[in-house]
Amino acid sequence: MITTIALVPSRARTDGERVPGSRFDVVVVGSGPAGSVAALTLARRGARVALVDKARFPRDKACGDLVGPRGIGLLDRCGVSLSGGRDVGDMEVVGPTGRRVHLPSAAGLTYPGHGTSLARTDLDHCLYQAAVDAGAVPLTGRVGGPLDGGDRPGGVAMADGTALHADFVIGADGATSNVATRSGLVDPAAVLWGFAVRGYVDQAVAIPSIVLWELRRWHAFPGYGWIFPTADGGANVGLGIATRAWRAGGSEAVRLFPAFLEHLATLGLLRQAIDTPRRRLGGWLKMGMVGTTPAAGRTLLVGDAAGLVNPLQGEGISQAMASGLAAAEAIVDAPGAAAECYRAELLATHLPYQQVAAAAQDALVGRPAAVAAVARAVTAPGVGRAIAGGWAVFWNDLLDGAPPSRARTVAALASGTGRRLTARSPAARWFAGIGVGSAASP
Ligand SMILES: Cc1cc2nc3c(=O)[nH]c(=O)nc-3n(C[C@H](O)[C@H](O)[C@H](O)COP(=O)(O)OP(=O)(O)OC[C@H]3O[C@@H](n4cnc5c(N)ncnc54)[C@H](O)[C@@H]3O)c2cc1C
Repeated sequence: MITTIALVPSRARTDGERVPGSRFDVVVVGSGPAGSVAALTLARRGARVALVDKARFPRDKACGDLVGPRGIGLLDRCGVSLSGGRDVGDMEVVGPTGRRVHLPSAAGLTYPGHGTSLARTDLDHCLYQAAVDAGAVPLTGRVGGPLDGGDRPGGVAMADGTALHADFVIGADGATSNVATRSGLVDPAAVLWGFAVRGYVDQAVAIPSIVLWELRRWHAFPGYGWIFPTADGGANVGLGIATRAWRAGGSEAVRLFPAFLEHLATLGLLRQAIDTPRRRLGGWLKMGMVGTTPAAGRTLLVGDAAGLVNPLQGEGISQAMASGLAAAEAIVDAPGAAAECYRAELLATHLPYQQVAAAAQDALVGRPAAVAAVARAVTAPGVGRAIAGGWAVFWNDLLDGAPPSRARTVAALASGTGRRLTARSPAARWFAGIGVGSAASP
């Protein structure tokens, strides 16, 4: 039987303090953007919430460090203000032949016309601190997995053998989530994996560039690279590869990173070729929602644990924060049906885009000539400029909330056509299998 949790005000504790034998309403595993926003929301709503991370904060995280417009809107909604970020608006896409397409950014009805660049050490620490200030209990330690699943209140088992008891578990432990795997919510054969590596260089960059790269003529790299401005006046450079379910392929991004940096230098985007940028760090991306059931029983997955990264451009911070908020609200507002409510909210918000993007990625990875053809076509003279506005709205998943404009019309056309073309794709079939309101487990 599902019991209603008693929501009582919590009190802040000092970082690292152990709470042996304590009972919480919710244990949030992972203090990245998804977990911290979930914990912040729960604590503000009066829940007793533990926020557990294996890392001691502040900590670094492999990232391009760009928070998209929806993320800025969500931070406003949560009343969190970032300091030290650098506003980022328009972007540039550089095609395989070196042609550049300028993607304009425009404000929507529900999001601003810019994102921000802020090092993850700072962004994540700011969100973490906001959650702790609101009353979440911060704990440092590695979580092994859920204590038990199903409808019974459980909690999590720490790797050191201690238990944290709670009515709900929010898995915010990133792409390779222990909570997701050990709860049986991941179908490894269906997941769209990616791996990306980034580093920093001391070079000023005017606007963010995304680079579509061919390893040799008409043989595209299955992903993209980037050079983004950082808040401190330097640049974040990186390369990300899509591997579908084949995780061993992720190492190609690391192997090819020096060659990609040389390519950036050839394009004139780097002043000189650099073998090893500073603070090189890699990380996994779990994209397009496919392969992960986002919630079942009393376990809710948020952010990368739920596979919410955009399969076409790699953004995941905005979705992480939005899903953290949605999971927290589902637990507080509908404790008897939190998983169902959260799943429905997630699918309603993300499915229209993710189905198309996941199917497109699934269809293209492993077909280097087809990827090259698409990349060359969208950056061809005339074509790129004609579709740039709609392209910016569509692939940044900004259609919902975009004001009437030519860009919106083009993006809506791309979305509608994409949905029709992908209606019978393996991705669409997978989503149908976990459909809104259908019980994924217990
Ligand atoms: C190289 C790279 C570049 C990227 N660039 C961008 C970008 O520019 N913009 C963007 O929007 N997105 C980007 N992304 C994606 C983005 O980083 C993620 O979508 C985002 O971090 C998801 O947040 P999260 O809170 O779900 O997970 P995370 O930020 O990964 O946080 C998970 C937390 O869980 C903790 N944890 C993990 N396992 C355990 C455990 N067993 N016990 C306790 N704690 C645990 C970790 O220490 C971590 O703090 C990039 C990703 C990569 C790899």
